[in-house]
Amino acid sequence: MFDELTKMAEPYRIKMVEPLRVLSREERIAKIKEAGYNLFLLKSEDVYIDLLTDSGTSAMSDYQWAGMMMGDEAYAGSRNFIHLCEAVKDIFGYNYVVPTHQGRGAERVLFPLLIKKGQYVLGNMHFDTTKAHIEMAGGIAVDMVIEEAKDTENYHPFKGNIDVERMEKFIREKGPENIAFILVTVTCNSAGGQPVSIENIKEVKRVADKYGIKLFIDAARFAENAYFIKQREKGYENKSIKEIVREMFSYAEGFTMSAKKDALVNIGGMIALKDDEDLFRKVQTMVVPLEGFVTYGGLAGRDMEAMARGLEEGINEDFLCWRINQVKYLGDKLREAGIPIQYPTGGHAVFIDGKKFLPHVPQEQFPSQAICVELYIEAGIRAVEVGAFLAGRDPVTKKEILPDMDFVRLTIPRRVYTNSHMDVVAEAVKRVYARRHSIKGLRFVYEPPILRHFTARLEPVE
Ligand SMILES: *Cc1c(COP(=O)(O)O)cnc(C)c1O
Repeated sequence: MFDELTKMAEPYRIKMVEPLRVLSREERIAKIKEAGYNLFLLKSEDVYIDLLTDSGTSAMSDYQWAGMMMGDEAYAGSRNFIHLCEAVKDIFGYNYVVPTHQGRGAERVLFPLLIKKGQYVLGNMHFDTTKAHIEMAGGIAVDMVIEEAKDTENYHPFKGNIDVERMEKFIREKGPENIAFILVTVTCNSAGGQPVSIENIKEVKRVADKYGIKLFIDAARFAENAYFIKQREKGYENKSIKEIVREMFSYAEGFTMSAKKDALVNIGGMIALKDDEDLFRKVQTMVVPLEGFVTYGGLAGRDMEAMARGLEEGINEDFLCWRINQVKYLGDKLREAGIPIQYPTGGHAVFIDGKKFLPHVPQEQFPSQAICVELYIEAGIRAVEVGAFLAGRDPVTKKEILPDMDFVRLTIPRRVYTNSHMDVVAEAVKRVYARRHSIKGLRFVYEPPILRHFTARLEPVE
């Protein structure tokens, strides 16, 4: 167990390195212009520190890489699938596992089995592909995160919690028969990587049971959520991460998971169910045409082995302590410099409040995107906008959706960068903040009709 002294540094050492390169400021200005001021259109090799996402960007361990060599590439019944099932049973206590190529594959397979046309799916804040798959299955996604989440300055230990009162009122109004299921996302990415408490999950479960509604978990960052529970929730300080995970998941019927986050792999996902054999059979029937045979679901045997091992490593408390504290380290540096961020910092990223950072730029001119562009120019750092640019337009009125929270997300890949890199990031943000008054908003040169943020082209507003 790492103690006060030893936990000041990474709980691993580096066996293989990947050299980074840095372009000159002039080159960066030219590259971002060429990319239409859209960081998704940059070449990865033109980026120095890549904080676009924590998805699939983790560094695998020697134990995981060794597992890759143990891939059993049989079409059916591979030993790696069996290992994955054992890991899920051990960590979550669930009986049934169906692998998928990543999280959205799991959503694609499961949701049509649960949703009838016009039914609602209630959650704290649905992830974007999750919302898309709910809608593709004929459902309506409703976000019900607590109001405190929207107040970025003020501390709340569990800003990912569902507003249970509001949820119950909604169920009564619409009728329980019109609710397909409840989906709790842990941690709540869209609110700033904010955790959900056990107490809240229990309350949601109580209401779900009262109305005969099923509860599922979107489990991408389950381990980070469990670590926050251990740190912040009364009664859990002496429990192991595994015990906490077990309890969290005991209240749900099943989960969909993108393994590209807390399961520490570059690709993979799954559906797991506690004990609903009937639903499991249906999922198995659907997964074959969509993802692949029931024991591989779009993954190679070696991928499933890395995933099984990654699940075990992902709940290691020394690792989680370092991980969460690295994010906090960056967050604290920014807060000390007076930079507005979602507070407290989340599990996987620091979220800068773009509207407060650039109050002179109207939200329709994408203040958070403008900050991302400046961070790239300042130091070759690639962050991502989670605000109006991402939100897009109302499908009916075509008006810009202006979300309450407009963020620059500095997403920290797991086990990839050191705190020296975090120092560079903090310094770059400070320099951009110092010259914020001269930063202009952005407008479209090309705007695609759907998922515009991936391919749109922009220019500065003069
Ligand atoms: C990443 C993610 C997904 C989608 O998973 P992919 O692996 O990217 O397909 C769904 N929900 C949450 C909360 C996520 O973070």
